[in-house]
Amino acid sequence: MRLVLKKNKHILQKIEEISGENVFACYQCGMCTAGCPMVSEMDVLPNQVIRLLQLGAMEEVINTRTVWLCASCYTCGARCPKGVNLSRLMEAIRLMILREQNQDYVKIEKIVKESLPQIALISALRKFTS
Ligand code: SF4
Ligand code: SF4
Repeated sequence: MRLVLKKNKHILQKIEEISGENVFACYQCGMCTAGCPMVSEMDVLPNQVIRLLQLGAMEEVINTRTVWLCASCYTCGARCPKGVNLSRLMEAIRLMILREQNQDYVKIEKIVKESLPQIALISALRKFTS
């Protein structure tokens, strides 16, 4: 099911606020994608996620499988010559998706009953423990 944003305006600002990252610092060198261990499974490459954010193509971003397949391994951030931490941006995008569905967090019972991507569980645990 394709997600539609209710409030497209200011969503990039929110993603930058949550992640603490500036998407416009990225100059598309591709170093993040070259080191990403999940890239073969992704429908949009990690550097392309940032490019879509720069272009304001939020609906494309929130409908990609990539944000859920990201394993939060931080390889991209370690490789980035501009110091952009893409894993933080991926996390912020996942949060925005949950909020668009009126969920501020993932309930553990819901994850157990339904089949959610594993990263949703990891992300939820991080929220419960931070
Ligand atoms: S490594 Fe950094 S600058 Fe290069 S494409 Fe990825 S996020 Fe952008
Ligand atoms: S944090 Fe996500 S996008 Fe970055 S290298 Fe790891 S799996 Fe790829």
